Amino acid sequence: MKSKKTSLATRAIHGKKLYPYQGSVVTPIHQTSTYRFANSNDAVRYSQGDPTVYVYSRYHNPSVEDVEEKLAEMNEAEAAVLFASGMAAISTAILSIVKAGDEIISTPALYGGTYRFFRDVLPQFNVTVKYVNADSLGDISTLVTERTKLFFCESPTNPTVGIVDLYKAIAEVKKAEKKSGAKIVTMIDNTFASCLHQSPFNIGFDLIVESATKYIGGHSDVLAGAVIGTTKDVKQVRQLAKYLGGCADPFAAFLLSRSLKTFELRVQRQTESAMKLAKALEKNANVLRVLYPGLKSHPQHKIALKQMSGFGAMMLVEVKGGVKGAAKVCDSLNVAVNAMSLGGVETLVSIPVYSSHVNMSEAELKQHGVTPGMIRVSVGAEGIEDLIEDFRQAIKKI
Ligand code: PLP
Repeated sequence: MKSKKTSLATRAIHGKKLYPYQGSVVTPIHQTSTYRFANSNDAVRYSQGDPTVYVYSRYHNPSVEDVEEKLAEMNEAEAAVLFASGMAAISTAILSIVKAGDEIISTPALYGGTYRFFRDVLPQFNVTVKYVNADSLGDISTLVTERTKLFFCESPTNPTVGIVDLYKAIAEVKKAEKKSGAKIVTMIDNTFASCLHQSPFNIGFDLIVESATKYIGGHSDVLAGAVIGTTKDVKQVRQLAKYLGGCADPFAAFLLSRSLKTFELRVQRQTESAMKLAKALEKNANVLRVLYPGLKSHPQHKIALKQMSGFGAMMLVEVKGGVKGAAKVCDSLNVAVNAMSLGGVETLVSIPVYSSHVNMSEAELKQHGVTPGMIRVSVGAEGIEDLIEDFRQAIKKI
């Protein structure tokens, strides 16, 4: 990974090459599916692997590359590849590593879409996922076989905002590799923390996957995903992306490039507000639990302190009255919006048993630590006093 040269905000705004497009301060939208060859020599150069020849936007597009380069810079990585959604990024990255017969070890607390991909899709390709709980990472070596190709985790986790001890996970994977002789790729979904608060490459992870729909996009108006890592690893993912086709489109890239300019400002403000809201909610008599990694009461607060530079803007609030209580709160909010997704400047609330964890069995909900009275809160950038008052009046209605 590259050494840090400029601040995160500078890298997010300018990427590596300052003013690349001849006088245009803003990267233009290259809204084209294909590219004109000056002459057939270009086609020959392309066929010989010359990366400067643009051919077709499923393979490469300057607006998309602009965002890829900025994401790589922001994560102090060599390369990134942008996708049409977080799930396109996650599924393509995983399929670039495993083949039939291989095994994955993962922590069970995952975004519902990722969990369903593991549960419903990977078995169709004879790929098995074995789960290790975050509090028993020492079991990794007992689960590893010569077939194990990937360790996957998410931290903080969706929706329970649990923290996986990332240093321990890497140490256990290394130990297991030594014992079994297996070569295991380590991959983390860094969506909740974002690169503002967590640098998994510095901890030893090989690949970061992220839903750029969330903090990178930040305005609830674009779907995108990213895979970030070494040039070699990202090349392998990009190759498969060409076949599976989940590439980002130029307009989405333009929106993301614009969003990146305020990434640090937005996420810093959202994080500060989250801490204030969490502290206020913790005192509310109708609130049973607030799970926010920045609170001393969070079961893994000390681990969060070790591996995060900030605690992010996601929290989970468990209210009295079960799912009815949770629904009453969500329906009574006037500032916060009752909507799925997260990471935008608008505060969003959702009930996991109706959203990310809908239609899961009792056993699965238990495994994921999800209960009916839980409300997931993605804190936005509104005035914090307005948010605290909004939640106070809504929770009073239970
Ligand atoms: N990872 C996490 C942690 C998420 O919360 C989500 C979506 O909510 C995804 C991945 C999937 O991203 P997308 O909706 O952009 O496909």
